[in-house]
Amino acid sequence: MSTHSLLAPSASARWLNCPASIEAVQKSIEVEYKESDAAREGTAAHEFAEMFLPTPDADISEALDFGYVAENGIPIDSEMVKYLEVYRSYCYEHIHSFETMKKYCFVEYAVPLFYRPEDNGTVDFISYMPDQKRLHIIDLKYGRGLVEAVDNTQLIIYVISALDEFEFMFDIESVEIHIGQPRRQNFDSQVLTLEELEEWREKITEVVSRIDSGEAYKEKEFGPSDKACQWCPLAGECRAQAEDIFKDLDMDLELSERSNVIQLADRLTPEDISKILGRQKEIESFLKKVHALATDMASRGEKVPGYKLVGTLTNRFWNDQEGVEKLLAQKLKKDERYPSKFISPAQAEKLLGKLDISSRYKAKFEGFISRGEGKPALVPDSDIRPEYRLYDDLELMAALE
Ligand code: SF4
Repeated sequence: MSTHSLLAPSASARWLNCPASIEAVQKSIEVEYKESDAAREGTAAHEFAEMFLPTPDADISEALDFGYVAENGIPIDSEMVKYLEVYRSYCYEHIHSFETMKKYCFVEYAVPLFYRPEDNGTVDFISYMPDQKRLHIIDLKYGRGLVEAVDNTQLIIYVISALDEFEFMFDIESVEIHIGQPRRQNFDSQVLTLEELEEWREKITEVVSRIDSGEAYKEKEFGPSDKACQWCPLAGECRAQAEDIFKDLDMDLELSERSNVIQLADRLTPEDISKILGRQKEIESFLKKVHALATDMASRGEKVPGYKLVGTLTNRFWNDQEGVEKLLAQKLKKDERYPSKFISPAQAEKLLGKLDISSRYKAKFEGFISRGEGKPALVPDSDIRPEYRLYDDLELMAALE
């Protein structure tokens, strides 16, 4: 089975740690790929970055006046302008000079992947610094989830591929891989020697060859871990992941025999799902308690290996109500600044509860309250509510006649 174009650098944290996942995902015909809102926003941020990076004197905030909208329909906003300015400044810290940008810098540059030359990977920013004899690559991450540069395989794949392309052009002695994550003020980087890159090249090529030959899947080389499973399309329905979680909790899962239906061979069966759900409360409550215990230990200065306490932020608030009212009045209408909304049944009930009202008034009031139908909820068979009936096509046709 071809694994062509499935070995994307951006998914390498998964397939390098869980080589069998490539074929397992391919066999799971029901898995749907959907681009999240965050991913669409990231795509738009990359498009705007590509537009503004090559021109240091371009004022990014002018994009707001022109109302720029990315190809995927996401408009640029003031937050994006602010973060793109920070990202651009970081990139410019790693250029030789503005005068030599055309010679030494490459924006959104497609390089053939070293393990799959017929496929390209797009590097956000490449810069060669002749004085350092170093090739820098910077990857823009627009999301809020912290991304580290150290041993980041996506960047390592990009830089090895870029090296193959640029080594004949420049005198390169080392490389530096960077994450530019302006929303987290995270600008992490790692310097790698050419020898270290060769070791990575060998390691990655070896995994790719096991995936391509089918051996990784045949030998069930699954490698469940937070990092591998985080963005896997099979996460939450994968046997290897479930077995790993239950193993760590030292609970005997006793999953059913693997299904004979090839497409579902690596996914949980309905019986497995029922068994796991049966322990949902137990596991959730246990994990909640462990989390609270670890927080308590850390706040008493006791070290929990691999964890630490960090400060968090509360919701944003106006620090000068009068000032911001004047500022917003320049741009927003009064009803936009002070939206008024009719109260909900619960709010009315609360207010009426404090008043002396007659039973006639109460009955009249209740007559105005209806309840819509919510989404069906999954509960154990023992729940006293009647089972929600799903119409099949024939019943639906009969109902409509
Ligand atoms: S969910 Fe985790 S273990 Fe299962 S295939 Fe995906 S990455 Fe591998």
